[in-house]
Amino acid sequence: MPKMKYLLLFHLFAFCLTTGPSLSAEPPKLVVGIVVDQLRYDYLERFGDQFTTNGFRLLMDKGAFMTSARYDYVPTVTAPGHATYLSGTPPSVHGIIGNDWFDRQKRKTVVAVDDANYVGVGSVSTNVHISPHNFIGDNFADEMRLRYGSKVVGVSVKARAAVLPAGKKPAGVYWFEEKSGRFITSTYYMPELPAWMKAFNDQKLVENYRGTNWTRLLPPDAYHYPDERVGEGRLLGETNSVFPHTINYTEDKGYEAILRTPFGNQLVADLARAAIEGEHLGEGENPDLLCVSFSSLDACGHEFGPYSQETQDLTLRLDRTLNEFFNYLDARIGLEHVQIVLTSDHGVAPLPEFAQEQGLGGKRVDEGKLMKDLKKKLSTRFGSSKLLLTSSFHYGHLYYDPDALKRLRITADQVSDFIREWAYSTGDFQAVFTRRQLLNGTAEGFIGSMVARGYNAERSGDIVLIMKPFMISSTGKTGTTHGSPYSYDAHVPVIFYGSSFKPGRYADEFHITDIVSMLCAALKLEPPSGNIGKPVLEALTGN
Ligand SMILES: [Zn+2]
Repeated sequence: MPKMKYLLLFHLFAFCLTTGPSLSAEPPKLVVGIVVDQLRYDYLERFGDQFTTNGFRLLMDKGAFMTSARYDYVPTVTAPGHATYLSGTPPSVHGIIGNDWFDRQKRKTVVAVDDANYVGVGSVSTNVHISPHNFIGDNFADEMRLRYGSKVVGVSVKARAAVLPAGKKPAGVYWFEEKSGRFITSTYYMPELPAWMKAFNDQKLVENYRGTNWTRLLPPDAYHYPDERVGEGRLLGETNSVFPHTINYTEDKGYEAILRTPFGNQLVADLARAAIEGEHLGEGENPDLLCVSFSSLDACGHEFGPYSQETQDLTLRLDRTLNEFFNYLDARIGLEHVQIVLTSDHGVAPLPEFAQEQGLGGKRVDEGKLMKDLKKKLSTRFGSSKLLLTSSFHYGHLYYDPDALKRLRITADQVSDFIREWAYSTGDFQAVFTRRQLLNGTAEGFIGSMVARGYNAERSGDIVLIMKPFMISSTGKTGTTHGSPYSYDAHVPVIFYGSSFKPGRYADEFHITDIVSMLCAALKLEPPSGNIGKPVLEALTGN
């Protein structure tokens, strides 16, 4: 009898060796990549007990939740975030170093997804010129196509958020045009919108929200913060910062107002469903990929900050939208055939006035004034105020004019030494790194390594200045922003859901570039060309 038992065990063992783990043996039918723009990690914890069971909680409770996930580069802004999360590649390699950057050859600012070779499709504008061309290398979407012939679709209200995760040859990428209220694409992808996209646009769903009031989802006492505080901004056409907010469409701004409300996210979820049906995603033998980016939390957070009723309410309403969407996926494809990854492209700083009130040292820094002062001092020191190619900071980067330096017989090091001392004398800056330091790998400390990972030799500046914590670049009196190396901007949730992932909370060190390593291990894929991440083995089934 014992002998037979051993024999059985032996056979079982041999079976496992040849077939691998049963749970993740079958590839999923659909992978869904979800970015919630500006979703800080702490929102899921702070508002978690007010979530439904099948929205964020489905992922938090039944997925593998990486609670210490961080961006490890700067600037922590939208285009680099969307370019990095599905490529596992830092901006130093994929080249999307900001939402825009200064192009030394063209001597002008270029936008991350700009490409003059293409025009808009379905657009009322002649100024839409978009492709993923500026992204160097490939990403998870491309590797899925190479391995499985997967159909890939990207949707968002922002072009950069729709384009960058979807790779180089997706079946379609669609984003919102504020002027017309329609979703459009680029001739890079297709000459004409598909019939399902035209039909979706013809529904004119945006019109349903004209004049609509955004009220609180829950009773007022369910909210953690006052409805109004110093530094809060206002929505389009409004005269105060309190509930209810009204969606005011205008001739000038078109349908932009919807984007700062929860209804902008609802619109994207509606489009995601239409895309699944229109493109028959998840119906084939091999897995498809849907990339969805919800932008409205970002637009709202910029106005009201992370400690506001609006941010809490928008997060709660997005939870309901996700609940509906996940139930839909379950009914249509079956959640057992779906793998989901959810993350954010960056966090956000508190309103400086609130940070100051809390004793944290918040401050609005007028970069225009700083620049004026710098130019004056450069002129006094070197005899010319025209040493720089740009008249503004690009995420703290400054670009020197090589011809001016030659003419004045000064070196880049001399200018850098001077600018560094000037920066520290202002009291606004935490760290300064030169091009030389960044290229030879001597930018020190955690800020230095974050700047280095965000530094592309071809596209980045000659010197990079990083402000102190809780200081933001701002010329107005309201609103807040992100982009810094600090936790409030860099710490985001990452959650994997599906049969390849072991449910649980993982507080291990986790970098955004590890997302793709996890997904590639789960789907047995070659990692993208510039992937520097590594998977968390304990969070993978059958590894
Ligand atoms: Zn963003």
